[in-house]
Amino acid sequence: MARLANRIALVTGASRGIGEAIAIRLAEEGAHVAINYTSDRSRPLAENVKAQVEAHGVKAIVVQADVGNKRQVEAMFQEVNDKLGPVEILVNNAGIAPFEPFLKVTEETWDRTYNTNVKSIFLCSQLAAKSMIEKRYGKIINVLSTASLVVTSPVIPHYQSSKAAANMLTKGMAIELGKYNINVNAVGPSTVDTDMCTDYLADPEIRAKEIEANPMKRLGTARQIGDAVVFLASEEAMQINGHLLMVDGGLTVKAAQPDDHMEH
Ligand code: NAP
Repeated sequence: MARLANRIALVTGASRGIGEAIAIRLAEEGAHVAINYTSDRSRPLAENVKAQVEAHGVKAIVVQADVGNKRQVEAMFQEVNDKLGPVEILVNNAGIAPFEPFLKVTEETWDRTYNTNVKSIFLCSQLAAKSMIEKRYGKIINVLSTASLVVTSPVIPHYQSSKAAANMLTKGMAIELGKYNINVNAVGPSTVDTDMCTDYLADPEIRAKEIEANPMKRLGTARQIGDAVVFLASEEAMQINGHLLMVDGGLTVKAAQPDDHMEH
């Protein structure tokens, strides 16, 4: 029996990368999926994800919205509600990581990063919670990062602080919404080879260092993040609330040591 049969899910930023994998994993478990994206050029990508989702015998729609924009978020929820029904599983995945050093970050970059990575969670979760409270059922899962806990490479404080803020937002929402049988949790990927990291990982030396730095000696995959999201959306996780499940190979529990290069 599919674990999420006939549940209605909305995945933000699902046209590619980690969001795409999450949408497909949810569909594999029987959920109907709304696939959000924002840029016009990504419409064909979102349509491709829709086809992959539908191949699992569930319903899918694509819905364009900038998740940092209240008016567009409201229109998105209305469309999902009209076409699929009230959102029962919300995955706040959309995010950006402008690779700019602290001294060069503009106010525009700062605002765009926080609007996409933090404000979006506030806007989408507040709207989703309304119908979840009525149903006394809901799962909100935020895609955070190792950067929610530690400063990772490359050092981009606007991104890292946004992911740390989103971690505390997750915990606060979990406390407030738990009494309505709404679980609010998060997953924390380490580096995954998506468009977000294409330029960064294109340097073979950096890619090798990323792999070497990880205790599992490999990069994570988008599907592994989808697996963790499915678990948190399932009834097996019904008593897990306010938790950040790291899917990082143990990277954030390991402090850099002077003998890191030595074989043990
Ligand atoms: P990605 O490949 O760059 O994809 C980003 C997705 O977010 C796209 O679907 C994009 O839509 C969407 N998006 C961006 N801004 C948006 C907005 N304002 N409104 C709606 N959608 C928006 O990124 P990814 O690597 O899959 O990352 C997904 C999440 O995982 C992010 O929150 C990221 O911070 C987190 N994460 C990633 C890594 C990694 O190494 N990749 C590691 C840790 C955490 P369009 O296609 O329309 O642009």
